[in-house]
Amino acid sequence: MSKRDYYEVLGVSKDATKEEIKKAYRKLARKYHPDVSKEPDAAEKFKEVKEAYEVLSNEQKRAQYDQFGHAGMNGGAGFQGGGGFSADDFGGFGDIFDMFFGGGGRRDPNAPRQGADLKYSMEIDFEEAVFGKETDIQIPKEETCSTCHGTGAKPGTRPETCSHCNGTGQLNMEQSTPFGRIVNKRVCHYCNGTGKIVKDKCTTCGGSGRVKSRKKIHIKIPAGIDDGQQIRVSGQGEPGVNGGPAGDLYVVVRVRPDEFFERDGDDIYCDVPLTFAQAALGDEIEVPTVHGKVKLKIPAGTQSGTFFRLRGKGVPNVHGRGTGDQHVRIRVVTPTNLSERQRELLREFNELSGNDATQEQQDNLFQKMKRAFKGNAKN
Ligand SMILES: [Zn+2]
Ligand SMILES: [Zn+2]
Repeated sequence: MSKRDYYEVLGVSKDATKEEIKKAYRKLARKYHPDVSKEPDAAEKFKEVKEAYEVLSNEQKRAQYDQFGHAGMNGGAGFQGGGGFSADDFGGFGDIFDMFFGGGGRRDPNAPRQGADLKYSMEIDFEEAVFGKETDIQIPKEETCSTCHGTGAKPGTRPETCSHCNGTGQLNMEQSTPFGRIVNKRVCHYCNGTGKIVKDKCTTCGGSGRVKSRKKIHIKIPAGIDDGQQIRVSGQGEPGVNGGPAGDLYVVVRVRPDEFFERDGDDIYCDVPLTFAQAALGDEIEVPTVHGKVKLKIPAGTQSGTFFRLRGKGVPNVHGRGTGDQHVRIRVVTPTNLSERQRELLREFNELSGNDATQEQQDNLFQKMKRAFKGNAKN
């Protein structure tokens, strides 16, 4: 399924201003709005225009799109960074709606309407996020009733046009007042605004045309996905009304933290303990990475807090641009529960380390601390 460029959809240039984008959107939304447009594929076009506007009208999303293209929004299986839906999703629609109907809310009940988007949250392990995963999820959703194909009428019968509102879904209520007669428009309560009356209700769905079900959907979680990111599965939301397109399903991915590895973007951090002797004398150690064990040479005289970088041992970039690194932070562990012999050796060691380089470094550190104390005194 190839997607059209958002700028192309709105017919604006790449450096279009916010105003130009809004203007183009209003023009196209007016043309394709499913409640007014007579074009056969209006609902699809409207959805496309709305999606393009949602991205290009949002500074952050637009920057992301400019940089990564559709891959940045819904590449591959449909991947989208960042979290949540914005109030704009609905604000934008209401805006247009008011523009056409003067806020009266008079919409044709028979026009095709897009189904609602669904949101589904799932938890995966740290390593599953690193390497990706394919899985089936069960989502509760409404589906078009297969017995009546969504009409709500018993097979063999048809819903009739509501005779009270003539299919418009609205009634004119006349009221006599001392100032004359006032005509109010109200939602038709005979047909609940649908414009149709079902005499013989479908027994499967009770006349609503929809049934609740659980649907199994196969999801591909791309390698490198991070906590809070979401995958969009196009067309797996709730079914549309009157033949409108279905909404989308958004799967929000939560990543369970790992007790050893910590993630920052595509890089992984971890703390590795060393004994005082290992740090002082140097050693070759083995470090766990998500890609397996890696040998790491520790030079003699390594300080606690020193970082070593293991190139390419981090997380594969979710957009396929390389792999991050693993950063190993050294933690020199001070020995406890020393034997009398060990204590003796350390005392001897301490006497011997009178004026070597380590002592110099220590002095330097003590000087810095002294100056920091002076700085405190000033405040
Ligand atoms: Zn039914
Ligand atoms: Zn009616």
